[in-house]
Amino acid sequence: MTDRIPGFATLAVHAGAQPDPTTGARTTPIYQTTSFVFNDADHAASLFGLQSFGNIYTRIGNPTNAVLEERVAALEGGTAALAVASGHAAQVVTLQQLLKPGDEVIAARKLYGGSINQFTHAFKSFGWNVAWADPDDVETFEQAVTPRTRAIFIESIANPRGSITDIEAVAAVARKAGVPLIVDNTMASPYLIRPIEHGADIVVQSLTKFLAGHGNSLGGIIVDAGTFDWSRDNKYPMLSEPRPEYHGIKLQETFGNFAFAIACRVLGLRDLGPALSPFNAFMILTGIETLPLRMQKHCENSQAIAEWLASHPKVAAVNYAGLPGDKYNKLARKYTPKGAGAVFTFSLKGGYDAGVNLVSKLKLFSHLANVGDTRSLVIHPASTTHSQLDDDAKTRAGAGPDIVRLSIGIEDKEDLMADLDQAMT
Ligand SMILES: *Cc1c(COP(=O)(O)O)cnc(C)c1O
Repeated sequence: MTDRIPGFATLAVHAGAQPDPTTGARTTPIYQTTSFVFNDADHAASLFGLQSFGNIYTRIGNPTNAVLEERVAALEGGTAALAVASGHAAQVVTLQQLLKPGDEVIAARKLYGGSINQFTHAFKSFGWNVAWADPDDVETFEQAVTPRTRAIFIESIANPRGSITDIEAVAAVARKAGVPLIVDNTMASPYLIRPIEHGADIVVQSLTKFLAGHGNSLGGIIVDAGTFDWSRDNKYPMLSEPRPEYHGIKLQETFGNFAFAIACRVLGLRDLGPALSPFNAFMILTGIETLPLRMQKHCENSQAIAEWLASHPKVAAVNYAGLPGDKYNKLARKYTPKGAGAVFTFSLKGGYDAGVNLVSKLKLFSHLANVGDTRSLVIHPASTTHSQLDDDAKTRAGAGPDIVRLSIGIEDKEDLMADLDQAMT
């Protein structure tokens, strides 16, 4: 019994947590403190020099956050993780360890709208170049590789229509190019897809969505698969070269298969500063305990509603990978056998006007810019999340003018169908 490897649902409740050693509290307490007392001067010096692990200051680490980090690392099958303030913070901290000005990241064209903005504008201002590739055509990743490429970035289930990326095919391109594959696993959550098993070297998540799950807390996380050799070709000096701020230690040499997570913490988070509040870590930990139950219900509802919409006389098309005959159904059967996720798009025969009308008439669905809430959500991407793109780019990103995006919650599906039905009349 003791040798048993715990299953996913057990890890979701227990990984990383123990009764509090001083009080016996069974739920992980919120360590709402900025700083931690050192035992003595030697202890302080060894913490600052990375000779021993321990708490210093909540911008660099906190015991509540540490439980969250251990739990998500276990759920994703990684060696270590770093929790940060948001999904976007996870993305910038990750890439900051990998790119210098003039370096390049190849990114899938189908990304969360906020990520397209972040990559296009903020990253450009850092001097990082972005080459866009088509996640439905793996050759476009291969064609984009240059001597300055330092990473490839994709979403496992991609915004906004819930398309499924062939992670293994892109991982093969990354391996050949000698760069890490970063997978944003927000839309799948580790319950549906564990990208590390398909060749990802780094997984990032917006915890804000399905992991926290209740639409109440922002957070992000970076998971280190421990698979990448950072010292080859001298492409990643942050990890392979002596660090002046830590008495010249080399992170990969010292920390081995969790060096990337350490770099993100002691260089990225320490200097950029997007620390996660321990209160949010507590909320997200509580959310994760029911992740398997919620994801089952999210997927079951989504499948039923997608099927119902597909046969509705007012609906022109439904884009859900769980539907037989959908463009992504074959990939869904391979990568998401437990369900094709809870975010998908559809269009109405009445086009743009009917879409806008539907959004305004829905009552149970909330019209807002989020996904992965217990509540069902709706948005018209062309006029909101993807409004900065020109018409061609909108259509290429799967956010054409007639498209409505749903994030299906865990309510009774009959009530959701009734709401959609009344809004379409
Ligand atoms: C929401 C989201 C993000 C950004 O996360 P925040 O927590 O809002 O910063 C990144 N990627 C995907 C796929 C998302 O859905």
